Amino acid sequence: MGRIEVTQGDITKLKVDAIVNAANTTLRGGGGVDGAIHRAAGPGLDVACAKFGGCATGEARITPGFNLPATFIIHTPGPVWQGGHHHEASLLANSYRNSLQLAVANGCRTVAFPSISTGVYAYPLDQAAPLAIATIQHFLGNNSQLDRVTMVCFDARTYAAYQRALEQN
Ligand code: ADP
Repeated sequence: MGRIEVTQGDITKLKVDAIVNAANTTLRGGGGVDGAIHRAAGPGLDVACAKFGGCATGEARITPGFNLPATFIIHTPGPVWQGGHHHEASLLANSYRNSLQLAVANGCRTVAFPSISTGVYAYPLDQAAPLAIATIQHFLGNNSQLDRVTMVCFDARTYAAYQRALEQN
């Protein structure tokens, strides 16, 4: 079975088959990791994303990596936290699952995720991390094509939360 790794760093630097972007529903770029990915990939990315005409929360779309070391970028809008009773958990799980599904459909063996929804979208990290790890683990159990899924955490607090979730999973 493929394995999950948790690392700290900048996802735009990773040479993997696909990196996932914590996008918004317009897919036209934004702040946080989305802005960093659009800046590093170059203007071709926005041209490609404009053609989708947006993407619903929890769904995913794929583009080339353009100037990134990664071959593909998978764009998924995670849920905005609204207190926890607006389907946030199932929508966040959908973001991870649909991104992995799209990666497999495009022949990817290595995929890297940022911590979807725990920045500007304010999803509590202590709830997002175990949900992300469990969803990825379950997917890996059913899909032999994937070799490695990396959670790329930008800051130490996020890194600690995902490490803990991995140990406790
Ligand atoms: P969201 O809107 O889904 O909450 P954000 O981009 O605001 O997305 O935050 C998601 C996570 O991505 C946060 O933990 C943030 O610190 C992190 N992040 C920001 N830039 C990068 C980067 N270059 N690589 C990896 N993670 C990043």
